[in-house]
Amino acid sequence: MHTTIALSATSQHYLDLEEKFGAHNYHPLPVVLDRGEGVFLYDVDGKSYYDFLSGYSAVNQGHCHPKIIAALIEQAQKLTLTSRAFHSNLLGEYEQYITTYFGYDKVLPMNTGVEAVETAIKLSRKWAYQVKGVAENQAKIIVCEGNFHGRTTGVISFSNDTSATKNFGPYMSGYQAIPFNDTAALEKAFQDKNAAAFLFEPIQGEAGVVVPDEGYYKKIRTLCTEYNVLMVADEIQTGLARTGKMLACDHEAVRADILILGKALSGGVLPVSAVLCDDEIMMTIKPGEHGSTYGGNPLACKVAITALEVLKNEKLTENAEQMGELLRTSLRNLNSPFIETVRGKGLLNAIVIKHNNPEAAWELCLALKENGLLAKPTHGDKIRFAPPLVITAAQIADCVTIIEKSLQLLA
Ligand code: PLP
Repeated sequence: MHTTIALSATSQHYLDLEEKFGAHNYHPLPVVLDRGEGVFLYDVDGKSYYDFLSGYSAVNQGHCHPKIIAALIEQAQKLTLTSRAFHSNLLGEYEQYITTYFGYDKVLPMNTGVEAVETAIKLSRKWAYQVKGVAENQAKIIVCEGNFHGRTTGVISFSNDTSATKNFGPYMSGYQAIPFNDTAALEKAFQDKNAAAFLFEPIQGEAGVVVPDEGYYKKIRTLCTEYNVLMVADEIQTGLARTGKMLACDHEAVRADILILGKALSGGVLPVSAVLCDDEIMMTIKPGEHGSTYGGNPLACKVAITALEVLKNEKLTENAEQMGELLRTSLRNLNSPFIETVRGKGLLNAIVIKHNNPEAAWELCLALKENGLLAKPTHGDKIRFAPPLVITAAQIADCVTIIEKSLQLLA
């Protein structure tokens, strides 16, 4: 089994440039893209592909959504950045829009996902000292094994993935990892009076779309309330309609104390992230204590309002729910000996490959690429299937045919 990739001279040229002049901190599939529209990506030779990664769930609304791009262009011609040294006409409007949309008192705007995670950690610690009464520097954040919350030195301090941590120490203290989907371990960790927050992904995306048992979110909510510990949901990947609800926590009608959003908050147009919570938590941070030059810039505000409008106007939650069901059923019906598991919620899905070749998932992704579908393995044997939420039933059927054909390569 080996997929031969014939690259055009044009593609090879761009690959060579990246190889020579860029840091080697990623291992991309050998495809060079220069255009995107809806569920499709196009390479420099004009070949089209279904996008089954959606920029790690940043492009929920589809590539270059016309309404989002129109908002971007219109605002870019007027005002892009003021910094938070001054007010803008759009910041308050956006803050009102997003807090009403999700039902929180306030929002703190940032840019990348990991910055929003850092913000949530800072808020949790401030709250622990100023409201809960934890002694200075003793606050503890409980996290899950197998987590992925980003790449800063602070956030990797509580990762147990050695490729994210090795030789990047020393690490920050104040974290305790417990198994994901383990509420007994959670309750035990909460016995510590210094426990400030439980930070978790409702579905562990990077770990390979690990879905917890039903009732997990409800139990987390109950325990957090009982022990006065903040429930901090990192919905950067699971939020914004991806799992068939606006937020993954909505599957159990649970409201986190701190909600972290990113990725699709801009529809893949520019880095926009946000932290939402109520006054008791948010008002612990005072002027000068936290911020970001680009956070809450007018361009981001305009784009984010439009990206959120598109999710609702186009009923992408409902479509993600229905298309996800169709995708999982169709994949299971393939009865492939090489698919060990099909799992997911809405359009956040993964297959686990069963094969004696440890490179099988990578080889399958190369075959998928040759056949017109782009996906990427995570943690060796898992492949995430997470297309833009605008995908149709006919397109899902087409994709399943491509997947079926590509799986034959593993025989
Ligand atoms: N949190 C989760 C759950 C994520 O999936 C990611 C990115 O994949 C991040 C945080 C980090 O986001 P960013 O890469 O925008 O910093």
